Amino acid sequence: MSCKFYWLVVVFCWSAYWAQSQTPILLIPDRVFDGVNVHTDWEVLVEGETISAIGPSGDFPVPQNAQRLELPGTTLMPGMIEGHSHILLYPYNQTNWNDQVLKESAAERVARATVHLRKSIMAGVTTMRDLGSEGAGYADVGLKKAVQKGIIPGPDLLVAGPAIVATGSYGPKGFGPHVDVPLGAQEADGEDDLIRVTREQIGKGADVVKVYCDYRWGPNGEAKPTFTISELKRIVAVASSSGRPVVAHAATAEGMRRATLAGVTTIEHGDGGTPEVFALMAERGVALCPTLAAPDAILQYNGWRKGVDPEPERITKKKESFSQALQAGVPIVAGGDVGVYEHGDNVREWELMVDYGMTPLEVWRSTTSGNARWLGMPDRGRVARGLRADLIAVEGQPEMNISALRRVTFVMKAGAVVKGRP
Ligand SMILES: [Zn+2]
Repeated sequence: MSCKFYWLVVVFCWSAYWAQSQTPILLIPDRVFDGVNVHTDWEVLVEGETISAIGPSGDFPVPQNAQRLELPGTTLMPGMIEGHSHILLYPYNQTNWNDQVLKESAAERVARATVHLRKSIMAGVTTMRDLGSEGAGYADVGLKKAVQKGIIPGPDLLVAGPAIVATGSYGPKGFGPHVDVPLGAQEADGEDDLIRVTREQIGKGADVVKVYCDYRWGPNGEAKPTFTISELKRIVAVASSSGRPVVAHAATAEGMRRATLAGVTTIEHGDGGTPEVFALMAERGVALCPTLAAPDAILQYNGWRKGVDPEPERITKKKESFSQALQAGVPIVAGGDVGVYEHGDNVREWELMVDYGMTPLEVWRSTTSGNARWLGMPDRGRVARGLRADLIAVEGQPEMNISALRRVTFVMKAGAVVKGRP
């Protein structure tokens, strides 16, 4: 092809794309869930990457060149926001965690992650907070950029990079003391070292700093606290000075107490929380991301036949602590630790949140406007004028049955249709 002709083709394609991306789109579903409430017979106008109007049909001017997109039988809503994912992991019943971390090359793990990202966006998840690359270094930072540049489809990512653990606490474990294995996170200790590592992770691209406030390193392999409060306070001071939140992995009451007093934004898991520690979290405005689906999945991988066998004690206790958190008024972040179970199956967590005591409407709000608030992303999570056009359509009524969020027929991210093109 001659050079001149080549450039003609490039310019033509670019202008065709530009014209298409500039065509306003009027979305006409049966109902609109704006992130808080449901409205019947409302329409939504999208111009470029942004929602430019929302309201009852005929209530706002629609440009003459707008493309009308009918979405009969659906509820249009904000794209779902996943609060706790691991895009570089996949279900442990396929390959256990140790083998994923130790035996798979970086290339294989990234290749898998691109598939996970595609599954997530097709399931209607348009933003994910990814909490630790689990031995894959800063691959999550690269994946985030690949999505941003349009190289691969996927949700927008907030990433944590390697995450921070106390020396001796994290895995893979089970090797002789003479063997140094690559770990699933970065070790650091003492205030000076933690300051340096927090800054290093931020410098290399972490949007959030994740720290393991406890881990299974007790004398009998039980979860015990790792860092002191003063160590945790240093991490929070450095991260917040850079404008980033700290996210704490904590499953023990003492780990949760230290994390709360140190000033973290959210606590992940929280299985061993007590009424006292949940009251403290509510008082300090620390949110809980309960990851209900993680133990539910892991216990089934270990042989629990859900619905047939008696409920394992760990599940009974998880239900108790979750209801204590709700009673104490702890804000809830919807996040399931997806990656432990299949990517794209994010609704599994939302269903368990309902099973364990929230109403479907509360969960629906949490997965959209609630998570946007707790992840510090005011440009999304609601259907409102001026916000990003991250919109999905689902069949059925999620406020009656949260599983309707599994039936996603249309996905738009930043104004571009990803699924359900007419
Ligand atoms: Zn996790």
